[in-house]
Amino acid sequence: MLAWSVQKLALDAPSLEDLVEPLAAGLALNFQHSSVEVVSCPDLRESPYSLAAPGLCGNPRIADIGGPPNLAPTPKLDRKYSFIDMVQLMEMGSKGAIIGASAGPFHVLGVNSELMPNWSYEEDAITNRTHYAKIDGKGECLCKRLNCEEFGLMANLFGSDGKPGKVLKITAKIRTGADNFTASIQRALKDKFGERIISVGGVFLIKKGKANLHVMPDFSSTPLKSREEVEKWLRYFDMTAPLVCLSVFHSHDPGLDLRLEHTHCFSDHNQGGHYHDDTTPADVEYEAYFNVADTLYRIDRPEG
Ligand code: ZN
Repeated sequence: MLAWSVQKLALDAPSLEDLVEPLAAGLALNFQHSSVEVVSCPDLRESPYSLAAPGLCGNPRIADIGGPPNLAPTPKLDRKYSFIDMVQLMEMGSKGAIIGASAGPFHVLGVNSELMPNWSYEEDAITNRTHYAKIDGKGECLCKRLNCEEFGLMANLFGSDGKPGKVLKITAKIRTGADNFTASIQRALKDKFGERIISVGGVFLIKKGKANLHVMPDFSSTPLKSREEVEKWLRYFDMTAPLVCLSVFHSHDPGLDLRLEHTHCFSDHNQGGHYHDDTTPADVEYEAYFNVADTLYRIDRPEG
């Protein structure tokens, strides 16, 4: 089913080297220790990152699919998407990988959930290391692998050929400022580049400390008419490092109703969900590998 609308935007992406100085300055405002460098990406299939492809390089692109209007006030249950369709709409080649944050395939799991898409493909092989997080029968979080290529409602995906190559390596620890990790980077990009759109995707690890994450429970039986009602419906948890976080964010929205930041985390200790913030700034520690997209795809943009 490829009937989804697509708006494509070529981005004027700066070189990774051009980002080092502004990001270092921005992170220093919010973290006691931080570093930004351009490195050859390690094999991100290895622990702790556990990605489906070794790298983040080759035709880097980002898609924003659907959006929160597909969830509230009432869920649009015809919004069922697949990784296979999305990589076609993102004009990806015969080999590639996607990572990011989306809603889970409610039509497969039988309940609404959070999804951490982490999937690669080549001509005759698929690697699916996707996780999902849902609320279990006791009201607790359950986070597990999910061998499924579908999702629902919305997604923010970073796609590439999945090859090794040059990426940004960013570390930060002990937060002293108001902005968290992704917010620090977004603000630094905005300050430096203004309305030039810098779209970033990749993976970061919360190595130490705790983070505030939400997990969507099953769909509400009554319409969620305000942000307040959505907040009451969501389930928030204080989750424990190490958490692997798949992240997509932009410095600026040119009027495409972009979700400016979306990060989902998973772990092998049954915790995962949608990242909001670290909650133990005195001992939080981050390590990230990011790349910058050269093309943006707005897919099935909600109307109104
Ligand atoms: Zn989310």
